[in-house]
Amino acid sequence: MGGARGYEVVIVGAGIAGASLAHFLAEGGLGDVLLLEREEQLAVHSTGRSAATLSQLDRVRTSMELIVASAPFFQSPPPGFAEHPLLDPIGVVSLFGEDAWSELAPRIPALNRFGLACHAMTPAEVLRRSPALDPTTFAAGLMVPGDGRLDVHEILSSYVRHARSRGVELRTSSPVEGFLIEAGRCRGVVVRGETIRARVVVNAGGAWAATLGAQAGASPIRLVPHRRTIVTFAPPDGVDASKWTFVSSDPHSVYFSPEAGDLLLSPMDEEAMEPCDATPDDEVIAAGLARFAHLAPSLAPRSIKRRWSGLRTFSPDRVHVVGEDPARRGFFWLAGQGGCGIETSPVIGRVAADLILRGETRHFDARRLDPARFA
Ligand SMILES: Cc1cc2nc3c(=O)[nH]c(=O)nc-3n(C[C@H](O)[C@H](O)[C@H](O)COP(=O)(O)OP(=O)(O)OC[C@H]3O[C@@H](n4cnc5c(N)ncnc54)[C@H](O)[C@@H]3O)c2cc1C
Repeated sequence: MGGARGYEVVIVGAGIAGASLAHFLAEGGLGDVLLLEREEQLAVHSTGRSAATLSQLDRVRTSMELIVASAPFFQSPPPGFAEHPLLDPIGVVSLFGEDAWSELAPRIPALNRFGLACHAMTPAEVLRRSPALDPTTFAAGLMVPGDGRLDVHEILSSYVRHARSRGVELRTSSPVEGFLIEAGRCRGVVVRGETIRARVVVNAGGAWAATLGAQAGASPIRLVPHRRTIVTFAPPDGVDASKWTFVSSDPHSVYFSPEAGDLLLSPMDEEAMEPCDATPDDEVIAAGLARFAHLAPSLAPRSIKRRWSGLRTFSPDRVHVVGEDPARRGFFWLAGQGGCGIETSPVIGRVAADLILRGETRHFDARRLDPARFA
């Protein structure tokens, strides 16, 4: 199609979802792509507010498969993809109480066979990697040594840089206000009164995905944003936490990790809300810090340095929604990234690109992501 007012593909939203798709489309030979972002800057919403972690153990089987399949991309990125390492493999240890551990422990060999390199740790072993914990407050830990902290800025900017070098056009400050529908098919978007035509319009609007779907008259998919909060604070005087591992505690409902000389903590809140610029709730933070004080009494912070919230948007089965809308042809969903949109982006971006370019993919069973499962 080409030209100033027409593209093969228009992507709405330049978070990690839209950016990874743009990269894999361009890599697959399609550079006639327009990536539209409402904000002036990238990463203003969920992508810029995450805990920036690769953590392959996930309660949702499909999400875990997607993360495990994506992990090698971060552990050894394709040559020339990034200028800096994408992953600092500090390890992620998940702590469990007696009941949850007695369910999980027998499954460890199966997890290993499935590709998740992980092993059990006694509380004493966990303490060697994160010495401030009270070992009487959990039964055991599951360590995934290949996991760790991601450089989200590097990942996002690398996707965007490669896409642009292959012809993808990025426009910021470009809110999509409506859709062009012709003969029942979505054939473009309206941005500040300008109509831009496209063969395929991609909804990568993050927390706004359901709103965009409704505006386009697509199938109603219940994609609900849920707030999650993070705080950072200094470790106690004289404590060097920089070599500690990432700890996620099921019994305490908190996770924490070293973060640039400080500690980062999430109360693992999950409050459903309308799409918005989410802000932290002091009571949620206080309750999280109280639970954290049981897990690591000596680390209880005297003051908080930074606090922020972002939205994790879940579909009804908590799995991504990727594919053309079953009713509104030409409208392609790339939504429902939930709490793993960064760490699944190498596989999800590629799967979405394959479906747009060829209508099929060999990288994942795309039926499990298909929006038609909610029809
Ligand atoms: C506190 C927290 C911790 C998290 N931790 C992790 C983690 O450790 N690992 C991990 O993998 N994931 C994590 N996540 C989840 C991850 O951040 C998300 O899954 C991911 O960022 C979603 O990416 P996205 O591109 O779909 O959404 P977004 O990054 O929100 O991007 C969507 C974009 O669409 C734009 N947009 C919306 N409407 C329009 C419109 N009409 N016109 C133009 N543009 C529009 C928005 O401005 C936005 O920039 C976390 C999330 C939170 C909040």
